[in-house]
Amino acid sequence: MSKVGLPALLVTHLPDLRYLSGFTGSSAALAVTRRAARLFTDGRYTIQAADEVAAAGVEIISNSPSVSALQWLAAQSTVTAVGFDPAHTTVADLDRLRTALPYRLRRAFLVALPSPLVEPLRLVKDEEELAVISEAARLGCRLFDGIIYYIRPGLREFDVVAELEHQARLLGAEGMSFETIAASGVRSALPHGRATEARLPRRGFLTLDFGVILKGYCSDMTRTVYLGKPKAEERRVYAAVLEAQEAALASVAAGASCGDVDGAARGVLRREGLAEAFSHSTGHGVGLEIHEPPRIGSGQKTRLQTGMVVTVEPGAYLAGRFGVRIEDMVVVTRIGGQVLTLSPKTLIEL
Ligand code: ZN
Ligand code: ZN
Repeated sequence: MSKVGLPALLVTHLPDLRYLSGFTGSSAALAVTRRAARLFTDGRYTIQAADEVAAAGVEIISNSPSVSALQWLAAQSTVTAVGFDPAHTTVADLDRLRTALPYRLRRAFLVALPSPLVEPLRLVKDEEELAVISEAARLGCRLFDGIIYYIRPGLREFDVVAELEHQARLLGAEGMSFETIAASGVRSALPHGRATEARLPRRGFLTLDFGVILKGYCSDMTRTVYLGKPKAEERRVYAAVLEAQEAALASVAAGASCGDVDGAARGVLRREGLAEAFSHSTGHGVGLEIHEPPRIGSGQKTRLQTGMVVTVEPGAYLAGRFGVRIEDMVVVTRIGGQVLTLSPKTLIEL
């Protein structure tokens, strides 16, 4: 806040708010000044907020938390302006906030942050966060290692997802990080193939991309398995994607640029004639949100730092035929990347 010359901050994006205050509810706003912080939430969270929020004052209100937080800030004599996050504030939100201010403050009191203030703090994970993320990743691996005994031709993609998510809850997941992707046969060529009624083929790939939430933190992994005996071309593409993924993993280290990690994967696939088939970026940060910075894409100059957690997930998608993606989560360390998702990656034939 000092750096951007702001005396106060209005935090409304829930993952940011959770990161700063510990509050896990679904409706709240956090007002931060240079001296104090106050969380505004409603009556449903009276007990929870008292439990979770240690350092900030808590105020239970009956109207909009963000409006109450803003009005509290406007009443502080030291607060002459308030930064808000334009990436997570709708036009309607902003209008409502402005209207709630005294007339003289409406024009200049709310200042859109030129760049996010809380998000960069979340980039590098501390020991406690890394422990939770590793645990979430391990849980993901247990799910994969188990589901391969369930998968067989004739099951619907829905069945595979239902079984995987059922096991996830039984093993203690708070939820899934995102809608589980199960794409089989020709549908494996859809990078984000949602599960459908489609039946698993006797011969063909099945891509599973899923993650669990543990103590608020997400895991994310993809494995592509084969039902039956793969043809030479299918083996070749799988091997190319695996080589690309390993090359990108090997390039992960503190100081490496995100563009270099992307380039390592892309280079292998280009050499194999699969440049066009790799239609998305190589990875993304993971934490309280399933997709957070940094983005590991072509030309990205951001440098990896020790403690960042990113995914490495190249793929190759041949429309109307098949697709392959392999994804791991990795912690950036000084000497390289430490892979958190240790399920096997040699092609599993079921
Ligand atoms: Zn994924
Ligand atoms: Zn991912």
